[in-house]
Amino acid sequence: MHELALIEELCLLAADSAAQQGATTIHSLQVRIGDRAGVDAAALQMAFAVLAQHPRWSGTKLELEVVTTRCFCPHCKQAFTPLDVIHLCPQCGSLSTHLLQGRELELVSMEVS
Ligand SMILES: [Zn+2]
Repeated sequence: MHELALIEELCLLAADSAAQQGATTIHSLQVRIGDRAGVDAAALQMAFAVLAQHPRWSGTKLELEVVTTRCFCPHCKQAFTPLDVIHLCPQCGSLSTHLLQGRELELVSMEVS
């Protein structure tokens, strides 16, 4: 289950950042996931539930925000949401290789004290 490794990594990152701020408690973590990141939001929540059995994380809330893939067409100079994994512009039908969002997995913010 690679979600467990991912959430462990995110939590380590958060713990490091909290320690740098002199905080001892992490109340919540806001994480953004692209729908093409290859990460399942439900699986990530389940993985976090495993981690939250540890007292270090038992009081922390994990908030996930899933963002949909957006591409940019260089011909039409506009962004569009592709229908499938082939990023065809709905206006002109050309293939876009410019992904604006959809592959991210990032810690957006967190609440500490
Ligand atoms: Zn186009």
